[in-house]
Order: sequence, then structure tokens, then C-alpha cells
Amino acid sequence: MLKLEGISKYYRGETTVTQALRRVDAEFKLGEFVVITGESGSGKSTLLNVLSGLDTYEEGEMYIHGEETAHYTPEDWEHYRSQYIGFVFQSYNIIDSYTVYQNVMSALIIQGYDSAKRSERAKALIEEVGLSAQMHQRSSTLSGGQKQRVSIARALAKDAPVIVADEPTGNLDKASGDQIIKLLKKISQDRLVIMVTHSYVSVKNVATRHLRLFDGEVVEDKAFGTHESVASTDVKPIYAMPLKDQLKLAFQNLFMMPKRLILMTAISIVIVAAIALVYGARTETTTSRSSSPSFYNSSIHRLIVTKHDQTAFTNDELNRLGNHRRVINRIDFDPAFEVSINLASEYQGYFQGYLTNDASALHQRQLTAGRLPENANEIVISTSYQHQIGDTVEALLSKSEGFGITMPRDENTDVSTNYASLEVEIVGFIDDWWNTAYLHPDFFLNPLVQYEAVRNQTVINFTFDATNLYHAEDVRIDIDNGLESGEIRISNPLKGEILDTTTLEENNLINNQHSITLFNHYLVENETTVTISSAFEDNYFAIRMSQETLESLIETIPYQITLTIEDGHSATVIQNAVSDDFHFIHPGSYQNPMFANFGIMFQIFNMIAVGSLLIVMYFITYITLKNTMQARKKDYIIFRSIGAKKTDLYKMTIYELMIVFAIAFAIVFSFLLLNRYVLFIITDYIRFYTFTNYLTVFLLLMALAVVTGFKFNQKIFKDSVITALRGE
Ligand code: ADP
Ligand code: MG
Repeated sequence: MLKLEGISKYYRGETTVTQALRRVDAEFKLGEFVVITGESGSGKSTLLNVLSGLDTYEEGEMYIHGEETAHYTPEDWEHYRSQYIGFVFQSYNIIDSYTVYQNVMSALIIQGYDSAKRSERAKALIEEVGLSAQMHQRSSTLSGGQKQRVSIARALAKDAPVIVADEPTGNLDKASGDQIIKLLKKISQDRLVIMVTHSYVSVKNVATRHLRLFDGEVVEDKAFGTHESVASTDVKPIYAMPLKDQLKLAFQNLFMMPKRLILMTAISIVIVAAIALVYGARTETTTSRSSSPSFYNSSIHRLIVTKHDQTAFTNDELNRLGNHRRVINRIDFDPAFEVSINLASEYQGYFQGYLTNDASALHQRQLTAGRLPENANEIVISTSYQHQIGDTVEALLSKSEGFGITMPRDENTDVSTNYASLEVEIVGFIDDWWNTAYLHPDFFLNPLVQYEAVRNQTVINFTFDATNLYHAEDVRIDIDNGLESGEIRISNPLKGEILDTTTLEENNLINNQHSITLFNHYLVENETTVTISSAFEDNYFAIRMSQETLESLIETIPYQITLTIEDGHSATVIQNAVSDDFHFIHPGSYQNPMFANFGIMFQIFNMIAVGSLLIVMYFITYITLKNTMQARKKDYIIFRSIGAKKTDLYKMTIYELMIVFAIAFAIVFSFLLLNRYVLFIITDYIRFYTFTNYLTVFLLLMALAVVTGFKFNQKIFKDSVITALRGE
């Protein structure tokens, strides 16, 4: 079945050339038990390596079943090895981290043995070599003789017609050695066994043929007795491992070396965290900044809804919108969100402006201190060094143009501003990029806030009698609960204006009942009867009244409402669900077209940043994982030596890295999500993550696994099997 004709083999050193084989002629048949002896260095191993396709030769020709091999490519030799040759090495070359069972199984998996019968077959083979008791023992804990028996069981698992054994008893004591030889004899019945040994005596009884080498030449070739010629076995086609088996081996490789797995996972966690956080920071900067032209408050939590025909929402429509599962809260007067509040700042003597947000979008765990607001006068603000929890402060209400006002406070007079004011109590702090105030939903329903939101578009109509009408614009309203219901006071400038433009006299104006209405698109014109009790000192048009009076004056109509939502993704989901019927604006997602190019540049810049990070991560991954992968190098060579295809091994390494990255991904994001919803230890970096973002990070990691795994394999497969084995 194997025939050598004039085979010569040279080893070229730097200055010398060694001829390891000199024109060797020999033919080997199935059923033979060939023993090769000779002094050390006489070429025995070289002959075996050539026969088993592990090494090349320079001259002569080798025939396999009569077929020339001169034209064989490395892939052909790989196939030949995997189909014809079972190896038994002096140094065993079994995978130490595997159990006996796993070692034998891996050979069955590699050759594609029917998966239903694999386990049974593995057990039978282990039984055959007498290792049933050690079946599930780790190979590293076996004795030399036991290890050699594992390697024989593995060679048998391959069901190869040729078993080559290079000094299989060289490392064993006499008793173990004899057992191995008996075993080899037993399996040589229908196979060709070629065995190299130092001690011919021990195999004399079992050998059917003896070859002696001297200085690369066959100096003796004796056959004893007869052997039955056996019909040659069929050669199986090239087998590609199915994904299931590749994954199985990848998992096995990882979990049979737990320390290595932990180390690799730890390294990967750092890598995953770096990518997740850099990527997360990117999404945060692109979504939290927006400069909507129509809405100053571009909070991501604010989704504005109107109807296409600009009419008021019906109750049914309001319920439909409010009941969407992604809507946290519904506030029926959206303009109130354009009112910002300005808090007196103790130390600097200035007011600090805060955008207003519905605190319903907030969770207690997100607070750095305190609690969520429980009524309209309670407030949570961005962590401030100027205030403490429990402080009651004056809040000036202003529309966008007044946001962030930094006006000097003048303690001596309270008539310097034209801002409506409220007392609020600071009940909590939050870490926020922007100065933001989170308020109870009732805040936005406070008529003073609602009035302030539309003050500049509101006309107050005074009707003093049939002929005396006065329309006042941009009037500030102050709350004074010391006044009776229906009692109002007006500022001197307003009083002067009314008297100037009507035929009223002061007596008639003061202490008489009059009717007023507020006129504005958003408000119901409720006619209310009031008494003007007196005038007061002020620089602006202003009216003082009790909260109760204000409530009777102001009744809003739901033309434009706010849905409080989690993020931009929710905005998209809600719009897609009910888009046909309503008009949606999510100012938090607005990208100013003027800065569109700037935005693209920003994105390119980010892509470069993330790209560079990935390259850096690739090198870090490669360098740090290299050593842990290197430990597996020998295992890979062993896999190859028992017939695993290169592509299968490539995939196995890549899957191993993918599994580790997936574990690290799960750990990192579990932590970040836990942090987000329960722990709140670190900043919520994944606040703006959408499904696409998670997927992107995951795919980036998988790509990193492929690239790194590929590189490892290139290194591992650089050398031929025999050079690699020799190097080990
Ligand atoms: P044996 O197995 O009989 O001890 P080998 O087949 O290993 O002998 O070696 C035969 C000859 O080839 C020896 O002279 C040895 O030094 C040489 N040789 C073997 N392998 C190499 C190699 N990789 N590079 C150079 N010389 C080698
Ligand atoms: Mg040798």
C-alpha cells in the first residue's frame, strides 16, 4: 500500500548538509507489523515522517496505493494524513487539559464520525486500551503508559489504515512498554503498523518484519513468517466539521482551562468596556445637543404633539396618546416647557437659569442626593454648590429669551424685575450636563407657569362698563395669597395707563367690580368678576391676585401637548405607531441644518476616534491574549497532527475569541444596565444606547475576534506540522 523508491532526504543547516535518508527502497502492506531499529541519528524518525506525510523528501518517489505523490500539494498531504495515518508519538502529544474521553472524542469529531454513535465508540476504544477507569480523568494526571494508551485509542479512533509509532515505549518502564506493544500488535490485524524502537528484543515476538537503518540506509530488511494480505480500505472524502462541532470544541477548549478563560475574559472586559464607553460617549454628545429653532427646551424627554388641523385634542385622542406604552406621562399644556426657572444664587449674587423637565422621566436611583419632587413646588436640580437640599429659594419664571439671565440681585428693592416668581424647595440633586430642573408634573399645570408661557401673546381685557374697555398686554402676574378671592391689585404704571385711556376716574376704578378675561389661543376666555382694591409701586404693568383667582382666570385648551418619554428611540416608536393622525416634534432629535456639515465632520471625527480605538484595541487584544493563546499552540498542532483541517482550526480559534468577547459583552452590559436601573454607582454611559448601538458594539467585537483569531492562526500555521512539533 505504501511504496518508497530511491527516497533521499537532506537537512540543510547553515554550513552543513546532512543526508538523513539515502536512496531508501521499501514497500509496506496492510497487515504488517514493521519494526524499524537503528542507532540514534540513523534516520528512523525521518523515514516515519516521510511515510506519514509529515515531512517532504528530495529525491525518489513515494507511492500511495500505486499513486505517485510528487505532485502533492500541502492540502493533499493534509488529507492523506487525516485519512491514512494514526500517530503514536514518543511524547504522546495528547491534549493535557482534556480528559481521556475528550481526547478520543476530539479525534472522532475531527474525522466526522456519526455524532449519534460517537460517545459509544469513544467508550469502546477507551475500554479496548484498558482505560475505562480513567475515562473522565484529566490527561495531565495520567502516567506515561496511560497517556500512550490514550494516544493509541485516539489513533484507533481515526480508523486509519496505517499506524506509525516513533519510539512509543521510549519514555515508559518495561511493564508499561510491553502493554503498549501488546496493544499495537492487537490492532495490527487489519492495519499496517510501523514502529520505531531502540529495543528490538521487546518487539521480536510481535514483529512480522524488521528494518534496520544505518546512516540513512536500509541495511537489513527481514520478514518473518507470513502475514495475511488485507484488502485496502476505502478513503473517505474530505470532511468539513459542522458548526455545531466547531463550537463544541471551542467551548471545550475554553472551559477545560478555567484559569485561562478567566484571564482572557478579564482582558476582554477591559476591551469591551473601553469600546462601549467611548462609543457611548459618542452617542451622548450627538444626541444631547440640539438647537431646535422653534423650541428652546430641547430635552430628549419632551415629545411635542399637535393635530394636523391645529384643533384641540379630544379626550379620546389624549387617552390614546397617553396610553402608549412608551409614554411616561402626558402633560396637556406643552408651552409650559418653554418656561425656565432662575434660581437666586447666594454666593455670586446672580440668578442661574435652569431648563425645566418633567421629573416623571427621572428615577430615584439617578439622583446623587435627596428625592424626587412630590408636589408642584418641589424641585430637583443639577448638582449645585450654591444650594442645599431643603433650601427654599425664589424662582423667577422666564421664557426662553430670559434663560440663563445673570442679573445682579438688588436686595434693597423688589421692583427691579419683570419676572413672575415662585417659591420652590430643593429636594434633590442630579448629575446633569446641563443646568436642568426636574419638576413635578403639577408644576406645568400651575396656572402661573402656564400664563407665563404665553404671557407675551396674551391680552387681558378689562371691561369696566359698556363704554370703558382696556386691553393690557405683557402684564406680569404676582401671586399674593393675602388677597381675597376676586380681589386684585394693580401696579401704578398699569393704573396710570387705564385712567389715561378710559373715561374712568380713580374712584370708579378702585373698589368697584369689573370683569376681566384673558385672551389667548391656548386659553378659554373665562369671564371673571374682580374687584381692584388698590395700586402698588412697581416699574412694570403687573397685577397681584390670589392663586384661587388666577385659577378661575386660566383654563388651558389642549392644542399642543407634551408626552414625557425616555429617549429619542421612544419618540420614533411612538411616531411610527400613530404618525398619520398627529404632528410630532421631538426637539431633542433636531439637527440644525446650518450645522449639518459640521455634524458630518463631527461624525467623521468620531468614526476616526472609534476606528483608532479599535486599532489600538486590536493590538492590545493581540499582545495581551497572545500568551494565553500561545499556551494552546501545542494543542493546535496536535489537532492538526490528528487530521483537523486548517480552516476548522481557524474557525475554532475565532469562535473561542468570539465566545470570550460575548461573555465579556454580557458582563459589561449587565453591569452598565444594573448600574442604570439599580446600582447607580457610575455615570449612566448607556443612557442613549438604542438597540442598534448595542448591536454595533457587539458586531465590532465579533469583527475584532475574527481579525485577532486570524492573526493567531497565521502564526500557528506558519510552520509545517513536523517543524512545529519538533519546536515543542
Ligand atoms: P533517528 O530518529 O534515527 O534518531 P533522525 O531521523 O531524527 O534519526 O535524524 C536523522 C539525521 O538527520 C540525523 O543526523 C539528524 O541529526 C538529522 N536531522 C534530523 N532532523 C533534522 C533537522 N530538523 N534539521 C537538521 N538535521 C536533522
Ligand atoms: Mg528519532
